[in-house]
Amino acid sequence: MARNHFKVSMEALVSLCKRRGFIFQGSEIYDGINGFWDYGPLGCELKRNIREAWWRDIVQRRENIVGLESAIIMHPKVWEASGHVSSFADPMVDCKACHKRFRADQLCEEQGLQLVKTAKGFELPAAAKCPACASPELIAPRSFNLMLKTFVGPVEEESALTYLRPETAQGIFVQYANILAVSRQKIPFGIAQIGKAFRNEINPRNFTFRSREFEQMELEFFIKPGTEAEWFVYWVKERLRWYETIGLSAVSLRQYEYRADELAHYASACVDIQYDFPFGFQELEGIAARGDFDLRQHQKFSGKSLEYFDPETGEKFVPHVVEPSAGVDRIALALLCEAYREEWVPGGDQAGEVLVAEPGKPAPAGYEARTVLGFAPWIAPIKVAVFPLLKNKPDLVQKGREVFALLQKRWNCFWDVAGAIGRRYRRQDEIGTPYAVTIDFQTLTDNTVTLRERDSMKQTRLTIAALPDHLAAALD
Ligand code: ATP
Repeated sequence: MARNHFKVSMEALVSLCKRRGFIFQGSEIYDGINGFWDYGPLGCELKRNIREAWWRDIVQRRENIVGLESAIIMHPKVWEASGHVSSFADPMVDCKACHKRFRADQLCEEQGLQLVKTAKGFELPAAAKCPACASPELIAPRSFNLMLKTFVGPVEEESALTYLRPETAQGIFVQYANILAVSRQKIPFGIAQIGKAFRNEINPRNFTFRSREFEQMELEFFIKPGTEAEWFVYWVKERLRWYETIGLSAVSLRQYEYRADELAHYASACVDIQYDFPFGFQELEGIAARGDFDLRQHQKFSGKSLEYFDPETGEKFVPHVVEPSAGVDRIALALLCEAYREEWVPGGDQAGEVLVAEPGKPAPAGYEARTVLGFAPWIAPIKVAVFPLLKNKPDLVQKGREVFALLQKRWNCFWDVAGAIGRRYRRQDEIGTPYAVTIDFQTLTDNTVTLRERDSMKQTRLTIAALPDHLAAALD
């Protein structure tokens, strides 16, 4: 798929998200809380469509992958076993002059420097400066654990301490044996989970990209030791294919392969799938071959066997795992960036050449400016808008209601009776609705309506009876 030519700025995107009800700052009436976001009416539909597209592709269309919804709060030992208590930390630096706080690795990367790893932790190179005030006086990096703590029960004491999960994956590992026992699966098989995760990020930034509360879609695919290399390649390919099916163009996706010295000690391979955001290529998903590290750790800490018995060969082993781990919020942001475009279109929705708008400039004579979210139809929050031509003509409104009821049974639809038709089309273009149906006086005589397509702006006349099948071909 080719990328649309318009490169959106974060300012334009954030403004549209707020104005049209995709994403709001969390707790905004109290001046917000950094790193938390609320998804409005359109944003929550967009996220539902992403989750559903993932679930359909990962779970429903495969026989050997099943789902799980585990609790957000787990036994604190889970996080000792997984290594999160001891090492789920980022190096943090404080500026002595302005007292702002940063992630040392990000600060170095942005300044073209290399953070130095020492036996005791990390050291900043001498040239590092505060990104806010440019002071060279920075306090040496300290390790900061990203898990959010809470207490379970009425007394806030050390023994009641636990964590909001920083990833959904551990819920899968600790239920692995139960699921294996009940699902009659044989290796290779997978367990998938979608759910909230929490990280006390030092520097939440880039809109929703780095938040403190976010949602993950994770798969643990359990395999026989020795087959990791082939399954790893398989999952990287599968996941890249999926990103293209939801509408991200191949040119705005890339793979970042970890070097041996960047891999966790237990991992044999890791690839990040990155998207070309307005702030640069950044991770949407990590795919890692994690060996048997997680199951072995839980076996050790729980004292329960997590070995698999292969009925065909009679072998016993702890399965290895390949883990594709994606973030719903980052995918939603990528889809918004990819879909956003400003265009100059022939006035009055006439057929003709569509021009890529030049930001800040008015449309040339005979053209109108429009903003479009060119979502793939199955990702668009609203699929069809229904417009009776005039709101003060009861017959039109009544007929419109009938069409709306017919389509609403199958798709998320939008009812709009207010204002000129052209303006109603523009409002739908801006939120990415692929189709609009207009009910006019002719409808009352022959039961035909006008179907208008968002991208081409082409209008076709067809009967109400033919509408559902016609739309289904594009939407389902
Ligand atoms: P990063 O290096 O960007 O901090 P990570 O490598 O720590 O990310 P993982 O632990 O691999 O991320 O988490 C898997 C996925 O969860 C990421 O690819 C991303 O989509 C999502 N994710 C992780 N942290 C955040 C966050 N703070 N905000 C939003 N999404 C996140």
